[in-house]
Amino acid sequence: MSKDLFDLYGKVALITGSARGIGFVLAGGLAKAGATVILNDIDPAALDAGVGKLRSEDLNAHGVSFDVTKTDAVNAGIADAESRFGQIDILVNNAGIQRRYPLEDFPDAEWQAVLDIDLTAPFVVSRAVVKGMIARKAGKIINICSLQSTVTRPTIAAYTAAKGGLALLTKSMAVEWAKHNIQTNGIGPGYFKTEMTERLWKDVDFDAWLCGRVPAARWGDPQELVGTAVFLASAASSYVNGQVIYVEGGLLASM
Ligand code: NAP
Repeated sequence: MSKDLFDLYGKVALITGSARGIGFVLAGGLAKAGATVILNDIDPAALDAGVGKLRSEDLNAHGVSFDVTKTDAVNAGIADAESRFGQIDILVNNAGIQRRYPLEDFPDAEWQAVLDIDLTAPFVVSRAVVKGMIARKAGKIINICSLQSTVTRPTIAAYTAAKGGLALLTKSMAVEWAKHNIQTNGIGPGYFKTEMTERLWKDVDFDAWLCGRVPAARWGDPQELVGTAVFLASAASSYVNGQVIYVEGGLLASM
């Protein structure tokens, strides 16, 4: 297989929620594969810092700050990115939050916040970006799903509902946009050490449970998601559509 299949030179990628965490690592990985990367975050100062870090590695990185839950801001941010960089070839819907409450006490506002960011925002951002992809008859959309797109644990019902919905939204995007040569797929990370999961990896009981439960017997490193992202962003995945690829150390294979 030619290395060129994974080449992203000349491509422009937008990664939402990428000032830090998994999104930041994916942005760096796509940039190292040759893409011009546009980082997005709700926090402009954090965004500038993230862009600066990638530029200090001589990567072609830029920033567009907007809140993925505000339709007008999304549409303006995408229009701004397209006017500055010509087009968006690759979209990674990564911004996400987690809220933990017993289901019977889950507050309305917290439930809605999770649904807004983790499920509705990928639709709103994709709707804005896909118009250009349809016109160009080419595009790649990668939705960052989760292990919780298919299994769950107590207290994370809103996240599970949103990420389960996102896995099926991924299929809907694939089915509606495949005819325009747009491939939409998901990545379902298992447990990776980021700020989102800090409470869990600092909890010795959870850490021991996880390392006993995952066949790989360890947490994932966000860098271990890069290969899957480059594959799904590149020509190598031109006939892969509507899939969620789980990257989880074998957890789903194990009872
Ligand atoms: P993280 O460290 O909390 O990073 C999330 C990023 O999204 C932050 O930079 C955050 O910005 C940004 N963000 C939040 N709300 C936003 C909004 N409304 N508009 C724009 N940006 C926003 O989380 P992560 O662990 O890297 O997770 C990234 C994605 O992977 C999420 O979709 C998550 O559900 C998924 N995932 C993570 C894991 C894991 O083990 N970590 C596992 C499965 C799936 P601020 O900090 O400025 O708010």
